[in-house]
Amino acid sequence: MKKLFNPSPDLFEESPEDFIRNLSEPVMIFKEGANKTRTRGIVTLLHGNEPSGLRAVHKWLKSGIQPLCNIVCFIPSIPAAIIDPIFKYRVFPGQRDMNRCFLPPYNDEPGKRAEEILQIFSEYQPECIIDVHNTSGHSPDFGVVTFEDSAHEALVSLFTDRMIVTDLRLGALMETSSSKCPVVTIECGGAEDPSADEVANIGLDKYLHQDNVLQLEHGHHLDLYRHPVRLELAPDCVVAYSDSYILGTDLTVLSDVDKFNFGEVERGELIGWLGSKKGIAGVSVKDSQGCDVFDKYFEVKGHQLLTAQALKLFMITTRPDIAIGDCLLYATAESEHDILDT
Ligand SMILES: [Zn+2]
Repeated sequence: MKKLFNPSPDLFEESPEDFIRNLSEPVMIFKEGANKTRTRGIVTLLHGNEPSGLRAVHKWLKSGIQPLCNIVCFIPSIPAAIIDPIFKYRVFPGQRDMNRCFLPPYNDEPGKRAEEILQIFSEYQPECIIDVHNTSGHSPDFGVVTFEDSAHEALVSLFTDRMIVTDLRLGALMETSSSKCPVVTIECGGAEDPSADEVANIGLDKYLHQDNVLQLEHGHHLDLYRHPVRLELAPDCVVAYSDSYILGTDLTVLSDVDKFNFGEVERGELIGWLGSKKGIAGVSVKDSQGCDVFDKYFEVKGHQLLTAQALKLFMITTRPDIAIGDCLLYATAESEHDILDT
């Protein structure tokens, strides 16, 4: 991994695209803060197709503005991001998803990179870490945490007012969170949503310059969503997106399915159509214990895949490769949606 210490703004290209093309490999950037006794961490572009955080970091680096605390910043998936067309590839072809690698054993390339990031963070002892992403369909902004407490809420609230508390464990960076160093995931919105870059810019600005980012401002409201489950597809599933069933697919998903992101979906809402070859075997829903809870969330009538109760759906992807390699969507039961008022 390349390491840059207090790089001069002139070192960097004018565009974020040229910036990462020129770097060409994963990079760690250290910038000294006005207060040298404290350090904060930033990770972005763990997924090569999610550029909002990178654009915000690049803009800040070009500005030359000194942060309040020291900043240790990692931009890991540059090799995947710069494959033409730029920002298309979530992972480097043939490799594991970088944000599923923060668990031992660290024996492949993305695993070793994850281990190195954790090792360097443990040397710098940051007081907190943010990991900035985009969703792969249209979506409003939200945060994801693995612990529900005021420090995690405060970090998320720098960027967004929606927070998912997950007990799913997949090997994501945020799962390394602790009371000594809270780690949160920020989803700025869809990679193509113009508002997503703005969310990243405004949030990063607060993160770089506010003295206390671990205490929720009085009167701040957060929408909370707990215990999400993932709608996963079988690895050999043939999936397509359309307005009606496409012959030969195991699942045809409604082409504008991402319109459901964070909207309230009633029972019986159509998600798509299952093929007759695999039928229901093509899809599964597992909870954090690994139990199959498909029937609680979805039902199949004829070939239609429908919601089985009122749900909030989010992180809905409209990319077949991500639907198969990761998951089609996340869901929480609408009754578990809370508004926190402090
Ligand atoms: Zn991501």
